[in-house]
Amino acid sequence: MDKTRHLSILGSTGSIGVNALNVVRSFPDHFKIKYLTAQTQSDLLIDQAREFKPKAVVIGDESKCSDIQGALPEVEVLAGRHGLLELSGRDDIDIVLNGIVGSAGMEPTIKSIQAGVDVALSNKESLVMAGGLINALLEEKNVKLFPVDSEHSAIWQCLVGEDPADIKRLIITGSGGPFRSMKKESFQDITVEQALNHPNWTMGRKITIDSATMMNKGLEVIEAYWLFNLPEEKIDIVIHPQSIVHSMVEFQDGSVKAQLGLPDMKIPIQYALTYPKHFPQAWEQLDLAKISSLTFEAPDLDKFVCIRLAYDALRAGGSMPVVLNVANEVAVHRFLDGEIGFTAIPEHIEKAMNTHDFIQNPDLDDILALETWAKSTR
Ligand code: MG
Repeated sequence: MDKTRHLSILGSTGSIGVNALNVVRSFPDHFKIKYLTAQTQSDLLIDQAREFKPKAVVIGDESKCSDIQGALPEVEVLAGRHGLLELSGRDDIDIVLNGIVGSAGMEPTIKSIQAGVDVALSNKESLVMAGGLINALLEEKNVKLFPVDSEHSAIWQCLVGEDPADIKRLIITGSGGPFRSMKKESFQDITVEQALNHPNWTMGRKITIDSATMMNKGLEVIEAYWLFNLPEEKIDIVIHPQSIVHSMVEFQDGSVKAQLGLPDMKIPIQYALTYPKHFPQAWEQLDLAKISSLTFEAPDLDKFVCIRLAYDALRAGGSMPVVLNVANEVAVHRFLDGEIGFTAIPEHIEKAMNTHDFIQNPDLDDILALETWAKSTR
């Protein structure tokens, strides 16, 4: 890269945001932070702003706005949902990294694309809910979308220099989560603490529960559908408990390319920010001799109902993935709050999918109305 890239990090105090700032810290000549946003963690946002000296920050929780203004007199401080959307629409940056959790990240993605800014996308829910709208906008605005999700980064890397017509199928890997080898009969007794204990990846609470139900893999199939423009029958899931092979592409001649690495989000985040370059890094390196064995197995769709629901939603299209995603968020939060059991998560989602008023081609207003409706489901 010959010039400094000016960045906006949405969700800078979350797991992805903190890792992104670790990457940025290693390359002070290449990256300059212009904007940071956080939902509630004002103390960490203040620390980050003091270190990276952004032009403006957003705090979602408006009650913390005056504290931040007091701590950062040199910085423009915006607050609330309105502040986040206003800042997401600014065009004086090169890349926005969207690390916001859940459906709240969708509109900021759209605002950034409308402003003509390239997006490094960790917020998979943006594509799950509005993939058709986003792809149309990307083309209209001539904007690029760089995947940050490790599986999609892997597929993207495998496709460098390849002709899309030569792809036979995508093989998305998943660790299988903490309940891969647990019997289905025991699923009803799963506790929040067990579900939050992921074997390989350290992530936020919402995505960790999605990994335990394997809804995360289902959402990733829908994300891949929109990113790589392939029908759902060409997007498969394989369970790979070691999380070293991050995904694969099979070509028409039977050749399969894979991308490997340690399960560390800094690697796909950095690639999205330095693309098409692989910058040198000093973090722990992959030692295959030490790992010694990589194993693979088919996912158990009978046990992990959420995978089936996601494929159903993708096949149905229209408003169905929106409802799948938002109903999942509702169910996950209710599970985390101790209101419902683990097996009630897919039940809640399926009920919402079956009872909503289906829309074939939802526009943004329809999607936002569906989001409000699905959030009200109990
Ligand atoms: Mg992933």
